[in-house]
Amino acid sequence: MSKADGKSSGGPKNPSNLHELSEGLKPDSLIVAAGRPERTPDASVNPSISLTSTYVAPNGIGYGRSGNETWTALESAISGLEGGKTLLFSSGLASIAAVFALLPAKSTIVASRNGYTGTMYWLKRLESERNCDVRYVNIADTDEVLAALKGANFLWLESPTNPALEVADLPKIIPAAKALGLRVGVDNTFATGLIQQPLSMGADISMNSVTKYIAGHSDLIMGSLSMNDPDLFARLELERKQGGAIPGSMEVWLALRGLRTLDVRLERAQKNALELATRLSKHPAVQSVRYPGLPSDPHHARAASFMKGFGAIISFEVKAGAVEAERVCAASKLIVHATSLGGVETLWERRHRWQGESEHISESLIRLSVGIENVEDLWVDIEQALR
Ligand SMILES: *Cc1c(COP(=O)(O)O)cnc(C)c1O
Repeated sequence: MSKADGKSSGGPKNPSNLHELSEGLKPDSLIVAAGRPERTPDASVNPSISLTSTYVAPNGIGYGRSGNETWTALESAISGLEGGKTLLFSSGLASIAAVFALLPAKSTIVASRNGYTGTMYWLKRLESERNCDVRYVNIADTDEVLAALKGANFLWLESPTNPALEVADLPKIIPAAKALGLRVGVDNTFATGLIQQPLSMGADISMNSVTKYIAGHSDLIMGSLSMNDPDLFARLELERKQGGAIPGSMEVWLALRGLRTLDVRLERAQKNALELATRLSKHPAVQSVRYPGLPSDPHHARAASFMKGFGAIISFEVKAGAVEAERVCAASKLIVHATSLGGVETLWERRHRWQGESEHISESLIRLSVGIENVEDLWVDIEQALR
């Protein structure tokens, strides 16, 4: 990303009016405490939902496409979690599109050959419309990734990948890319800042689909970008303002409410996921299971070396093939047959029911987003569906 165009978003910034947190809070305390109003007598404990399109002149935010007090509260909380400064967007994909919009024509980009379908869509467009050279790599093969970095200017990492559950060696790859002068963005959606912090490893941007774990209740769509570089922040803030991909303050308030319980939700979901992955891997109808938390998983050791957890997404293939996999998903009673992930309720789907899914993903692969229900009820449902 060149620094040539786009400086500041213009207009004065809003004073934050948020309670200053004491330094050194653990992340699980921080997500509970951050983004609350100043503790003046009789102040509200929660930020208000600021429903306004405009602000009184001359000072302050100015116009509702530039900022909003409710955004500031959630941005501050995610900033604490990711260790940077955060911008919210109308969706995870809008935040990715804002990053890619900064890439100059003829950029050389290194990215996984399979990953979130919306990301793959934008990479293809960069190739066809902006003459970018995208080097698609096996993101789990660190030597291959390192070799592809030379002469490139941008690296986009997603780890663990959606839906293959591959784990990239972030602590090795990110510093290597930075040493070669690349800008590095990481899609942190499957892990969240509770499990890994890409900025602390040297990445320029950590992106979250807030829709998923952060909001956690499958009731809204939102994205975020966190970063340290003030120049990059100014350019992405301008991109948000002029691109117009802003979130609604109601949704932001709900996402902040969701963030409060992220740690306990994840803890339970991860425990459930390990149990279900273990049982699935022994089930006669199951061909293969990928879950980084399984000791037998090819990426378990790598994940354990730098991640503080393994997330709660499992992918597995059924022996019988695509048609049967589709029937398995349709047969669940507790588990919801639906796309998306990261909510309190368990969801699953055969990924290839969508046209955009990668050819590197098996036709019979089912992505299972494990929620916080009782694990025995989940297993009863999976067993009867597999039958
Ligand atoms: C869902 C998802 C996105 C896109 O986020 P939206 O909020 O749906 O726009 C990006 N990356 C990953 C890994 C995702 O799972």
